[in-house]
Amino acid sequence: MELLKERIIKDGRIKGDNIIKVDSFLNHQIDASLMLEIGKEFKRLFVNEHITKILTIEASGIAIASFVALEFGVPLVFAKKTQSLNLDKNTFKTKVYSFTKQVEYDVQVSTSYLGKDDNILIIDDFLANGHAALGLVDLVKQSGASLKGIGIVIEKGFQMGGRILREQHIRVESLAIIESLESNTIIFKE
Ligand code: 5GP
Repeated sequence: MELLKERIIKDGRIKGDNIIKVDSFLNHQIDASLMLEIGKEFKRLFVNEHITKILTIEASGIAIASFVALEFGVPLVFAKKTQSLNLDKNTFKTKVYSFTKQVEYDVQVSTSYLGKDDNILIIDDFLANGHAALGLVDLVKQSGASLKGIGIVIEKGFQMGGRILREQHIRVESLAIIESLESNTIIFKE
């Protein structure tokens, strides 16, 4: 997606050799008009999959996934990271290792919101080593729903998440794939 790639080049900030900060339009301050275009692009890619729900993970996936849900006209469900008294007792639960925080935590979704009749599209902001996506895939499996694919805004192609998921024959569509961040330069996969 050219618009996204241009924005990453203009406003992305490289931290070390493997982290890119996109706080000014995706992860902290959010450019809603760019999110609208991202939502439309995922709709175009998955239009034939009869998606009934969008699934993401707290917190940074939520804004993006909301725009995708709006395009499909279906609910967005987000996996919760924090234990709350408000959460239903019956949940699908899994463990996820956080790439950015370097800790493992539980994520869960109420059994009321994912079920065997659902066709799920998973959405997230980044794909690095695949822990977040694999956790969400596990929740979908537990629920008996059909996983129709994973939509990622920025995939870091030099990390292993994309390969692991595609080897499991999961359809992964990434709007921008970064091949390298070495020497403080962003190189996209064509
Ligand atoms: P994974 O679970 O695939 O290893 O990492 C994906 C998660 O870590 C994403 O949900 C995202 O929040 C975070 N993440 C991974 N790499 C980056 C990065 O380079 N920049 C930012 N801002 N977040 C990242």
